[in-house]
Amino acid sequence: MTRRRLPRSAIAAAALGAVVGLGSETGWGYRFYRSFDGDSLAPPSDSAQRWASAVWGPGDTLAWHVVDDPLWQPHFPGPEEVTPLVEEALDTWARVPGADVRWRVDGIVSGEQAHGDGRNTLSMEETEDWLGQARRLSRRRRGGPWETIECDVVLTPRYVERLAGTRDNRLNTLLHEFGHCLGLRHAATTPTIRWDSWEWTASSVWRKDPQMSYGWDIDNALAEDDVVGASLLRPAGGWIRTVGSLSGSVTLDGRPARFVSVEVLRNDGGRARPSVQVFTNEDGEFLAEGLAPGEYVLWIHPMFSQRAHSALLSAGAATDPRDLVRARRHRVRAGQETPAGEFALTRGRDQR
Ligand SMILES: [Zn+2]
Repeated sequence: MTRRRLPRSAIAAAALGAVVGLGSETGWGYRFYRSFDGDSLAPPSDSAQRWASAVWGPGDTLAWHVVDDPLWQPHFPGPEEVTPLVEEALDTWARVPGADVRWRVDGIVSGEQAHGDGRNTLSMEETEDWLGQARRLSRRRRGGPWETIECDVVLTPRYVERLAGTRDNRLNTLLHEFGHCLGLRHAATTPTIRWDSWEWTASSVWRKDPQMSYGWDIDNALAEDDVVGASLLRPAGGWIRTVGSLSGSVTLDGRPARFVSVEVLRNDGGRARPSVQVFTNEDGEFLAEGLAPGEYVLWIHPMFSQRAHSALLSAGAATDPRDLVRARRHRVRAGQETPAGEFALTRGRDQR
């Protein structure tokens, strides 16, 4: 939904010794931005890039500012009318029970939005190329990990017109860009399109696409992927002890199956309920974290909707294996990693 490209301000910031992690490509996979010194394109949460604790530590509230931009008009009379919608999007993330995401709009600021000024802002830019962008600024100190220190969200008139309207997914781009600011990268879309004759198809397995995906069936709510991703990045006190993880490896023709989708389905009294989706990494290994205790079944398939994941495709994502569903149930326990074993895929999917 939101095409990204490296803006000029990002290049300028990089020249100043900071690196902006919004990425010029459309996706990196899994749910997190990797730390720049991490080497996997599908990192687990412990090597994901997080906010510098001096800037937004646990329990702290991150302040946002809406820029008094003339471009809000004609869709909004002014920034005061935009602010409640921005707050609604921020609150949607803040309400995730397992996550410590405290952030709010602290006021309206006048003048130009300046990337790298230490303020997190929401402003507008006149372009047809995308709907919104999150411009993250990162730093690294004394051999420590790369950390986020600022994020600016920029919206375009095309999106702001939608935001001013009544569509039921009008907060989507705001939610998506704030998710990037949080540290989430693009999630996968779900395996099929359920958009049929202007109705969502009800099913026990299909779920709505994550806000962080380039999917179509998105409303103003977060999907399980978004919720778990946010909780893993900024866990609320005690949450991490209540969940477990599931790990394993996937091969294709005896070699690691790179960046294939592992759908984790929760067994709910004999019915498969969707939980989360993860990608395998460069070595064909996967780690589905943040799972509530219970039984899970795995369904492995090539990624759908490739357009958010060009980096994974150019890094050798396996796109033609057949789907694999195993009936075997894996029990996840709180505080434990359950090994699910090895899964061998065969080629033959005809994907267009
Ligand atoms: Zn995005």
